[in-house]
Amino acid sequence: MTLPGIPPCPEIEGVGRELKKTILSLYGRSLHLREVDTGSCGACESEIVALSNPIYDIQRFGIDFVASPRHADALVVTGVLSRNMALALKKTYDAMPGPKFVITVGDCTMDGGVFGASYYRARQGIQDIVGGVVLHIPGCPPSPEQVLSALLGFLKTRPPKER
Ligand code: SF4
Repeated sequence: MTLPGIPPCPEIEGVGRELKKTILSLYGRSLHLREVDTGSCGACESEIVALSNPIYDIQRFGIDFVASPRHADALVVTGVLSRNMALALKKTYDAMPGPKFVITVGDCTMDGGVFGASYYRARQGIQDIVGGVVLHIPGCPPSPEQVLSALLGFLKTRPPKER
């Protein structure tokens, strides 16, 4: 979709076209993502939400966000893991059918980032709850372009048995 007055960005179009081709060859359909914010400042989540706006419009590249974890191929996690969200994250991950993978977005998903050792951080890390993170996208926050490029780079390395 092209908005009047907003020309398409050639970089996004190029990455998007490759994503679409790669996703189709891996899944034979679209890639479905479930996003859980476990305690972000809101910026990483905003960048993820921006992927679905009319500028990025990632649905046309074969990527969609779903409400039910039972429909998801991958889990996208933003934010430091807060105590209140640890159980919700585990339930979401457990409800997803396999094969599944996990993408963490933003520096605080790994080591707490700017939140450091805040009192509300869960004792476990995200990795402990979801059994290992497969793709981490660094940044504070990463831009939508960085998210798309990292996802493309990752999907292109998926071995055939996991496709
Ligand atoms: S990584 Fe930075 S931008 Fe993202 S949620 Fe954490 S503090 Fe916010």
